[in-house]
Amino acid sequence: METQSAVAATTLSYAYPDGTEALSDITFDVARGETVGLVGPNGAGKTTVFLCLAGVLQASAESLQVAGLDPRNSNDRKQLPARVGIIFQNSDDQLFSTTIKDDVAFGPLNLGLSSDEVRNRVAEALGQVGLTGFDERVPMHLSGGEKRRAAIAGVLAMKPEILLLDEPSMFLDPRGRRELIGLLNTLAITKIIASHDLDMILDTCQRVLVLDHGKIVAQGLAQTLLGDAALMSAHGLEVPYRLR
Ligand code: ADP
Repeated sequence: METQSAVAATTLSYAYPDGTEALSDITFDVARGETVGLVGPNGAGKTTVFLCLAGVLQASAESLQVAGLDPRNSNDRKQLPARVGIIFQNSDDQLFSTTIKDDVAFGPLNLGLSSDEVRNRVAEALGQVGLTGFDERVPMHLSGGEKRRAAIAGVLAMKPEILLLDEPSMFLDPRGRRELIGLLNTLAITKIIASHDLDMILDTCQRVLVLDHGKIVAQGLAQTLLGDAALMSAHGLEVPYRLR
């Protein structure tokens, strides 16, 4: 049954070295091809979940499976970057080359692919995010929305099985945000989207996990949970405009 899931976590917990218990016993599943929203107020533990799934932080869990690998196992962990892509809140942290082409090529080059294959992957990934022809552009000179899409292209060029997106709509203007939502909805890959932009979550996710104080307090259909005013206000969130 585990192989059916893109992610399966049973009693996943993590405490930071200073003793902060960021996640306590969270259990959830993400099916292959599913897009799940991870919602909760600041400090709920959303970023920590991503870092545990990506093997950056060493979680404890009864069982943990991410893209067929166990991030707690050091051999498996080495293969995770090729299978799990993370998009950080601030694209400036993710774009560091002098041209978009070099940025998007960085991951595939590290996979040791041939230069022809890298070129193909760069072209394909730029096409997927609507940035065909941006190869020679300077990342720093792009709009916020274009930067975000370039960062996504860099991850897609790795052909990952799972995308983890941390507050992808943060810092975007309304047009950039609409374009991002459109893009996310065209990507058939498994996605977990962490955000407190609940209108964006509603537009991209069928199902949500509500996280607060390191615990999953509810999980179910986005429409139902995000429309539950009592649940939202109990956890520092607001019903999205579309459901008011
Ligand atoms: P979110 O992404 O939902 O805002 P985080 O995963 O960043 O939440 O944080 C979860 C909890 O862990 C918070 O209480 C936060 O203060 C704490 N935390 C995050 N990073 C660290 C760290 N490096 N050391 C200690 N505590 C941390």
